[in-house]
Amino acid sequence: MAYVYDHQNIFAKILRGEIPNDTVLETEHSLAFRDIQPQAPVHVLVIPKGPYVCYDHFAIEASDAEIADFTRAIGRVCKQEGLQEGGYRIISNAGVAGVQEVPHLHIHVLGGRGLGRMLQ
Ligand code: 5GP
Repeated sequence: MAYVYDHQNIFAKILRGEIPNDTVLETEHSLAFRDIQPQAPVHVLVIPKGPYVCYDHFAIEASDAEIADFTRAIGRVCKQEGLQEGGYRIISNAGVAGVQEVPHLHIHVLGGRGLGRMLQ
């Protein structure tokens, strides 16, 4: 199945500067900003600047430079937000089963409180 990217999704609009955001980190290929409805004291979304729908789309089609930049951006957010000591969770929802709301790849970085067990 081909990946179809919707250029009108809300994160595409954030990347074009059409919607404001609370940026915590910007790199050549990635942007990190605070979630509008935080589920934890720290809740940052890290997105690639390229038009990728979900993680597998990105992992298969992005360049090595984009993948390296994105991976490092996630790590830098964890460090910058002071999550190393207390711990954190990173999550990416995809598609219908994953209940993905915004069809542009995003990694949730959550921390700042105990998050409980997710997988039993
Ligand atoms: P998903 O369910 O797709 O994994 O998560 C989408 C996330 O995007 C949600 O946590 C939601 O609160 C966040 N979100 C939706 N619209 C906006 C927005 O306009 N700005 C920001 N900063 N976050 C948003």
